[in-house]
Amino acid sequence: MAQETPMIKQYNKIKAEYEDAFLFFRLGDFYELFFDDAIKAAQELEITLTKRGSKNEKDIPMCGVPYHSSEQYISTLIEKGYKIAICEQVEDPKTAKGVVKREVIQLITPGTVMEGKAIQAKENNFIAALYPFEDQTAAFVKADLTTGETAAALLTASPSNWEREITRADLKELIVPPGFNEEAIQSSVLFSTEAADELSSEFEHLCDELNSDKLKKAAALLTNYFKRTQKRSLSHLQRITLYHPQEYMQLDLHSRRNLELTESLREKKKKGSLLWLMDHTVTAMGGRLAKKWVEEPLLNVKQITKRQSLVETFLEHYFEREELRERLRHVYDLERLAGKTSYGNVNARELAQLKRSLNELPALFSLLQRVHNDYANELINQASDFQDLRDLLEASLTDDPPISITEGGIIKEGYNEELDRYKEASRDGKSWISNLEQQERAETGIKSLKVGFNKVFGYYIEVTKPNIPYLPEGRYERKQTLTNAERFITPELKEKESLILGAEQNSTELEYELFIDVREKVKQYIQAIQQTAQIISVIDVLQGFAYISEQNQYVRPEFSNDRTLSIEEGRHPVVEHMLEQGEYVANNINMHKHREMLLITGPNMAGKSTYMRQAALIAVMAQTGCFVPAQAATLPVFDQIFTRIGAADDLASGQSTFMVEMLETKHALSHATPESLILLDEIGRGTSTYDGMALAQAIVEYIHHHVGAKTLFSTHYHELTALSETMSYLQNVHVRAVEEDGEIVFLHKVEEGKADRSYGIYVAKLADLPNEVLARAQTLLQQYESASVGSSTINDTTYVQEDGAVHTETAAAKEKDEPAHTSESPQQLSLFEANEEEESL
Ligand code: ADP
Repeated sequence: MAQETPMIKQYNKIKAEYEDAFLFFRLGDFYELFFDDAIKAAQELEITLTKRGSKNEKDIPMCGVPYHSSEQYISTLIEKGYKIAICEQVEDPKTAKGVVKREVIQLITPGTVMEGKAIQAKENNFIAALYPFEDQTAAFVKADLTTGETAAALLTASPSNWEREITRADLKELIVPPGFNEEAIQSSVLFSTEAADELSSEFEHLCDELNSDKLKKAAALLTNYFKRTQKRSLSHLQRITLYHPQEYMQLDLHSRRNLELTESLREKKKKGSLLWLMDHTVTAMGGRLAKKWVEEPLLNVKQITKRQSLVETFLEHYFEREELRERLRHVYDLERLAGKTSYGNVNARELAQLKRSLNELPALFSLLQRVHNDYANELINQASDFQDLRDLLEASLTDDPPISITEGGIIKEGYNEELDRYKEASRDGKSWISNLEQQERAETGIKSLKVGFNKVFGYYIEVTKPNIPYLPEGRYERKQTLTNAERFITPELKEKESLILGAEQNSTELEYELFIDVREKVKQYIQAIQQTAQIISVIDVLQGFAYISEQNQYVRPEFSNDRTLSIEEGRHPVVEHMLEQGEYVANNINMHKHREMLLITGPNMAGKSTYMRQAALIAVMAQTGCFVPAQAATLPVFDQIFTRIGAADDLASGQSTFMVEMLETKHALSHATPESLILLDEIGRGTSTYDGMALAQAIVEYIHHHVGAKTLFSTHYHELTALSETMSYLQNVHVRAVEEDGEIVFLHKVEEGKADRSYGIYVAKLADLPNEVLARAQTLLQQYESASVGSSTINDTTYVQEDGAVHTETAAAKEKDEPAHTSESPQQLSLFEANEEEESL
């Protein structure tokens, strides 16, 4: 290997400690990257790859970004999921002997970045640590460095539980101990490892509320990572609060995706999701809370009712609500301002934003008092009105300070006497100079004489060449010659000038010091600001709920504890929104303790899956405290929602659609409780008809006998509709379509009973299949139908419930008193057989 220069040696030594990051190595006004880092960065950032090295050395690939515009490059890499180690010169190059000393001052990672494109206003930037234990439980601690939020939970046994929490938390980065098996979790988050040291003393106070050593282990993992990567104050991190995932409605990854709770299935964007519809918040922090609420529907009716009551109050007080929205518009992102303050990189303009935001609070709170709502009062009582801090900011900061904190213009007059003196001196000097022009013109009689200023020569008196002879002798000292004029100074002018410049320099320096001092003072309020920010977020989300409830005519749902699920004229909130007004056909859902399962039939495209999703979305909305799209709604509180709805993303996952379907069904069957809601859409269509139908029936039976969850089950196996005759909790409904002049007309109306036929060929016609294909299919269908045995009874098993347990008995068993056997009877399969070809169309 060629001999290394001392600088490259230094580079290599530092790089060895940051293998998994791009090393941004400071060289003068640039951050340079070398070797493989350079090659990769040049590609990712689309910048030129050059090389460094002399004749007898091997070329070293190199690329660089200017220090001043580095932020955009850093953001780009962070967004792509990379880490960046910022390596600065830590001694003055002028006085350094040999190579300038350099150190990594910060490791920026997707989970710890504080600003730039990667930070979305209405989204948290969560990073978490997961510490698994031998008993398969795991401790989980998450934090958002930009806002200071933290939370911790003990996750019950099994990686699938961990996975659910990790996906719900929507993490940018996950810290795990060395040796962790990343394959155990299906997730696209960035994994980073950290050795599991003890909790460092500076973070101990954060863990006051954590009562278990397990949780402290995860907290240590996370905070040690912060310590190692950030190397600066993190005083805005809030005390870690414990939460219990069981306190929220549980939805696994697939159900979240399928129901499009926070992003659409196809485009993975907020637009088109339930959150997009429900989030009418005005502030960034409200937006983040809305997302959290949609991701974490509540189980506690008392808490839900509190939220509902404030939504209702806001609905009753239109004018107050409008004024509230208007005031909230002037409230900046208090949480992130607090975060930046603690981090030490808040500027004067941002503190002015803080000031303006806090100034809204008194009016905002008195507005809330006027609506007389218990929950609103409870919230206001926990908030601070920041009289002292507002006074401080009002007195110290100018109204519209610049972004730069080193060039003055920040501190108001009257705040500091010394500063005022400098400012006055500079003002006096300037006014003396502005009078000077008049005075000199009068004395010399030269009308074109000018007084000016430039950066090199300072103040000067300018006289055009033809007028030079009129200048009196001795007083003027020549300073600069231009083509048409000469510039002069006088001793008096010089004296004023140094007074002005001195005063200006002193004043900008003092302004900087005073600003830093104000910033330090603001730090004491960080916790209070965070707490108030939380309260404002709640109010913001709920006024948004009121807003959409009014816009879309939602109703306040009620909660039942007798297993009633009754929705009158329900609508799918998002589909309704996408259609023209009045186009959406509202539908009822009527379920109760004797009607726990609905088997839904109807042609493709009729609206079966829309109907099922509608039920789930209404349940989610209800449990977040929002009103729901219906005329009236009574729902149980669902502990979990399971969905198996055919989805485009199955294709990408590498598993066969059918396998995914079975895995998800298994998940539902093994985790659902009687308190759950299960949606199964056309189970079994991924395999042959025999298989599919047999599985579908077996699954329906299993849920009916063993799970007891509220279940909506759509199927195109019409044979299954016969199950309602023998299964007491199952009823048929169908989505109506009619045939008019050979064309199918979808009515989207859900009615009792089973569908009369499947209309597959009509739908094919809509898709413009060649006429020849359609005609041939029609002929075949008629042949099949006339050959079919056409029995509607596929099962002679009846189910009876005794003492809460379901027993099965077959007709034969009843007579002969033989042990019951159920679905796999040969007789039944032969009936399936008879109808097989019809369905395969
Ligand atoms: P299926 O599951 O029966 O194949 P979908 O639920 O996917 O049918 O619905 C097909 C389309 O019909 C939807 O994209 C939607 O535009 C429309 N649709 C469904 N339900 C309704 C309804 N209640 N009112 C109006 N349009 C509806």
